[in-house]
Amino acid sequence: MEHAIKINNLHKKFGNIKAVNGINFTVQKGEIFGFLGPNGAGKTTTARMITGVLKPDLGEIDLAGYNLQENFVEARLEIGVVPEAANAYQELTALENIKFMAKMYGLSGENINEKAKELLKRLGLEKRIKDKVKEYSKGMTQRVILGMALINDPEILFLDEPTRGLDVQSTRIMHEIIQDLNDKDSTIFLTTHNIQEANQLCHRIAIINKGRIAAIDTPENLKDTFKELQTVELCLEDGDYPLPEEFKYISQAARAGNKMRYYTGNPDRAVKELINKIENRKIVGLNILEPNLEDVFVELTGGKLKNEN
Ligand code: ATP
Repeated sequence: MEHAIKINNLHKKFGNIKAVNGINFTVQKGEIFGFLGPNGAGKTTTARMITGVLKPDLGEIDLAGYNLQENFVEARLEIGVVPEAANAYQELTALENIKFMAKMYGLSGENINEKAKELLKRLGLEKRIKDKVKEYSKGMTQRVILGMALINDPEILFLDEPTRGLDVQSTRIMHEIIQDLNDKDSTIFLTTHNIQEANQLCHRIAIINKGRIAAIDTPENLKDTFKELQTVELCLEDGDYPLPEEFKYISQAARAGNKMRYYTGNPDRAVKELINKIENRKIVGLNILEPNLEDVFVELTGGKLKNEN
């Protein structure tokens, strides 16, 4: 398979802080690749190095076959970057913003106007192309910024938290657009805090923690690797739950609303132990759940599952 991005031994220090500490990964052409990590993990620093904004201390970056350090211009032309901070010009219309970006890329000719309009149609903004961006909602502005990155037909698209701060409706539209772009063969590098977003959209996910890659795999394989994070979710009428220490097959527990989630590598034995213990009390619900990506993320990044009992 051909690669879109290949990162080898990337390092970046800020003073004594090892923001990125020797990371390696490859993104295949046509993938949606999620980059997930807690605050301060090194996501932005990595993305800034890959997009040529920040110089690495050490390591190599290859974009669609071009070494970024040796062939900067060629490599940069392969990518489109959608930054987190809104940087559309408020006083310009959506169409003007996209055409302005086309100029920045050195694109010209009559078809740019048509292409920009076509792009805005694809982004669901055709009815508002003549309105100034300052009159747009946050979700619409975010789509304009995406359009600005797409005018150059990039092979690889970098999205930094594309749905941060958006409501459910705008998030759904943005997800549909990302999916649609990927269906049309764009490779997408997606930085996100949103685990559900990563689970839903990404073919593979890299989890980064303290400047290092903690895991890279498909969401399904990540969940499979952490079978000990299966849960038995119990709801008791009296709401008085036994502690995990009282059981052999339960490692920890976490409150989820009026239910308790018991973590186990062996749900069959865990259920039997639980039933024995709560013999005479009324069970309102009992479910066995597969590990979810959030559990995997917490496990890999050293966070503790809360036991609020
Ligand atoms: P967040 O999710 O909060 O945006 P992140 O995973 O993107 O976090 P980075 O912004 O890459 O994390 O930061 C990684 C580490 O490097 C942090 O400890 C941060 O304080 C530090 N850092 C980042 N940029 C700089 C800088 N320009 N100068 C000094 N330290 C920096």
